[in-house]
Amino acid sequence: MMNWQSLGASLAQQLQQPMGEFRTVPIHGGDINQAFRLECDQRKFFVKVNRSELLSMFVAEKAGLDAIRHSGTIRVPEVYLAGCEGDLAYLVMEYIELGGRPDADRFATALAAMHRCFHEQFGFECDNTIGSTPQINTFNADWIQFWRRQRLEFQLELARKNGFDTRLIDAGNRLAETLGKFFESYQPRPSLLHGDLWSGNQGADEQGNPVIFDPACYFGDHEADLAMMELFGHPGQRFFAIYNEHFPIDAGYSERRELYNLYHVLNHANLFGGGYAAQAERIIERLLSF
Ligand code: ADP
Repeated sequence: MMNWQSLGASLAQQLQQPMGEFRTVPIHGGDINQAFRLECDQRKFFVKVNRSELLSMFVAEKAGLDAIRHSGTIRVPEVYLAGCEGDLAYLVMEYIELGGRPDADRFATALAAMHRCFHEQFGFECDNTIGSTPQINTFNADWIQFWRRQRLEFQLELARKNGFDTRLIDAGNRLAETLGKFFESYQPRPSLLHGDLWSGNQGADEQGNPVIFDPACYFGDHEADLAMMELFGHPGQRFFAIYNEHFPIDAGYSERRELYNLYHVLNHANLFGGGYAAQAERIIERLLSF
């Protein structure tokens, strides 16, 4: 059980504000962590809780949310505190009243602006997690090498350890050797990415501003975020039309979309098994035939 009194004292110190009486309300819906709304006077906080060994996951989530917030392009929850209380780790952030899906025009404009925040190299200041799987973000100036080693081959290696069919892994490794063909006339720049932008990590605040949360940030090809938005759900044609006005989408996107989503499908196979391994194999076969 979380020692809420002690967490409240740490939060009061961090915010340099006394915390009066507060109550906690469990929130359902997350995949990885326990979540609570902490209500205190007129303020509300969103608190994630997990085992203390997973503090680095929360520290990395804070780094991602801070990076997006500092870009000043799209609303994310402000993070106040990441720490441990006994054998539990916690992440305390601003509670945002989320209502429905973001407006396509505003979301497309804000996301394109975020993707226009560039870095010199691909990667991020720290490793983080995608779902609960480690995601390696060592900086690399070469996108193909970055995607090959730190995304595709990392998941294939996990699949091997998880005992998946060698046919899948061999085909995946063959694909890894031919990634150059997807980039013959396209050179991505290192854009600030959310990294896990499925529809469950998007919303709108009470003023209708788009909000994104639960990121797995890194600097990478902006198409990787767009592809993930099409994997589980779809933001609609209007979104893409507006986005394209602010950050043109290359003609080869539809081929690379499969390649980028393969990473998430492999990750789902590694996390949940089931039909995801067969789906990954079908994607690999298609990509090999391009
Ligand atoms: P997990 O890391 O366990 O996947 P999420 O970050 O996805 O958890 O959060 C779980 C749910 O809580 C989300 O689907 C969303 O509806 C809600 N949520 C997330 N962040 C906030 C926030 N800062 N304020 C209010 N609700 C939030």
